[in-house]
Amino acid sequence: MKNLLKNFGIIFIFLLVLGALFSLGDFHTDKPEKVGINKVIELVQNEQVKKIEAMGGTLIVTVEEDGQEKKLEANKEPGQSFSEIASNYGIDKDKLSKFDYEVVEESGWLFWLRNLIPYLFPIILILGLIYFMSRQVQGVNNRAMGFGQSSAKQAKQDDKSKKTFKDVAGCVEAKEELQEVVEFLKTPQKFADMGAKIPKGLLLMGAPGIGKTLLARAVAGEAGVPFFHISGSEFVEMFVGVGASRVRDLFSKAKKSAPAIIFIDEIDAVGRKRGAGLGGSHDEREQTLNQILVEMDGFDPHIGVIVIGATNRPDVLDQALLRPGRFDRRIVIDKPDINDREAILQVHAKGKPLNKDVSLRAIAERTPGFTGADLDNLLNEAAILAVRNNMKEVTEELIKESIEKVMLGPEKRSRIMSEKDREMTAYHEAGHAIVGHFMKHCDPVRKVSIIGRGMAGGYTFSTPEKDLMYKTLAQFRDEMAMSMGGYVAERMIYGDENLSTGPSSDLKKATQLATAMVKRYGMSDILGPRMYGDNEEMIFLAQEIHDKKNYSEKTAERIDEEINRVLKEARDRAEQCMKDHKKEMDNLVKLLLKKETVEQDDFASLMEGKYDMASLENHNTEEKK
Ligand code: ADP
Ligand code: ZN
Repeated sequence: MKNLLKNFGIIFIFLLVLGALFSLGDFHTDKPEKVGINKVIELVQNEQVKKIEAMGGTLIVTVEEDGQEKKLEANKEPGQSFSEIASNYGIDKDKLSKFDYEVVEESGWLFWLRNLIPYLFPIILILGLIYFMSRQVQGVNNRAMGFGQSSAKQAKQDDKSKKTFKDVAGCVEAKEELQEVVEFLKTPQKFADMGAKIPKGLLLMGAPGIGKTLLARAVAGEAGVPFFHISGSEFVEMFVGVGASRVRDLFSKAKKSAPAIIFIDEIDAVGRKRGAGLGGSHDEREQTLNQILVEMDGFDPHIGVIVIGATNRPDVLDQALLRPGRFDRRIVIDKPDINDREAILQVHAKGKPLNKDVSLRAIAERTPGFTGADLDNLLNEAAILAVRNNMKEVTEELIKESIEKVMLGPEKRSRIMSEKDREMTAYHEAGHAIVGHFMKHCDPVRKVSIIGRGMAGGYTFSTPEKDLMYKTLAQFRDEMAMSMGGYVAERMIYGDENLSTGPSSDLKKATQLATAMVKRYGMSDILGPRMYGDNEEMIFLAQEIHDKKNYSEKTAERIDEEINRVLKEARDRAEQCMKDHKKEMDNLVKLLLKKETVEQDDFASLMEGKYDMASLENHNTEEKK
């Protein structure tokens, strides 16, 4: 649109300049006066004519008037010569020999140009204008046509971007399954001869960043086939029908370069249960989904095109996608366990100079729940930190700092807290830490700090020692008590009136835990072993939206009561714990106010009463001197 306006502007200015030239320019000054043919005859009769030039249908007559030469112009019939006309008018032949008569052959382009330019200019201008406008419109058209083409990127299989199974650490089971697919792609004929059907589609399922794309790429790399990558959300456009035509285009591209892999990321964006009533633009999604199904049913399995879909929400997928002959193979990729994490760290540590003291095992221990992408990011953060600190190597300390940064956001050292706020934060965090330490089922506390991070004023950092498959009721109860720790400490020390807004996120976490215990896990005796609410969709979407209520109002009341009871119990347990360990808590607060951050070792010895508090005082007085 901007372009169009600009072009119009240019044309307009051009026209103005031309107009000015035409009106100012002396196109007309030379022009002889126009006269009728009988005037010319009369002049010839009076022997005033010096010269006549005949030019097609025009006569240029030069006359002498008062000793001055003057030019006149007259028209004649192009076919007639002047002498013929003269004789028609009855002029003597000798009068004609009194002046020069010249027939100017103004033939060719010069003549035409002279005559046509005045007419041609506007025509050329108009044509130009039309041309410009049509080009603009065509541009729009071209783009409109391009909508239907898939924007699938065909990854280049050059050496740099080529991935193999070596680049994927862990995921042993997934790799074994995929090895089979690699065989299919490499030697489809072998399977065809045996009458075995090659799978058309397989589904990789797992959390974001777990390495689904990486695995699919590695399959393509291992088999040496082209890799077409598109994201489900790219299918869903503003215009109905675009998605379907993109699918068609994508499959035809892939078939042309078969054997090949089509990777559809976020397939749930199009493959969600039809008629689920969520997320607008149904028709478009359904059409796209149908087209995918049609394409998958349509192609000959021996052609060697394999569709790999990736999703982190398999439960919302339409059943039609999962039927045999479509995405019938499903591979679940779990979060990496400690060994996998170590291996992934090894992959990404390549090319980063690590200090000798770095134990990747220790890092892996500290990062349960991290995905491959998180670990990648973690080492990258550490490397950036090393550069910023002008260090030659990445140290373990930097990596540990990055873990906290990745998990909790960057430290806010520059935030200035009043002495009162600092003390309150110290009590709050000490509350968490004390409960976390003395409750048997809490994760060990690794670090307590009153330096703000992200939204939080301070933080208590605890991670489990081992990866755990399941959580138990006992763990839930202790975890809830720990979440309550900050709130309870503030209340104990400052009283109800001085409670701060700090604990709101702690309370939210505790409430969510309590709700899940009561409603989802059947962990309440009063409500019994039942799942309340049909929360299939709920787990993924904003939690509050879609909890289908499948119980009565009366039950709802009991659920509420039960959740409250569980939360109060957690609060009371936290309070009791802090009363029992008041001394440790006061010491921890003291230490926090001095050092701001207390690491695991110091924390542990402090809790055991082995930390030399006196040294802290002494140290301090020395410093003051
Ligand atoms: P997803 O597609 O599951 O969201 P990706 O495949 O895009 O995740 O993974 C993101 C990044 O995480 C990868 O580029 C890679 O650097 C890293 N990563 C994930 N899993 C692994 C793994 N098993 N081994 C090595 N790196 C991994
Ligand atoms: Zn807190």
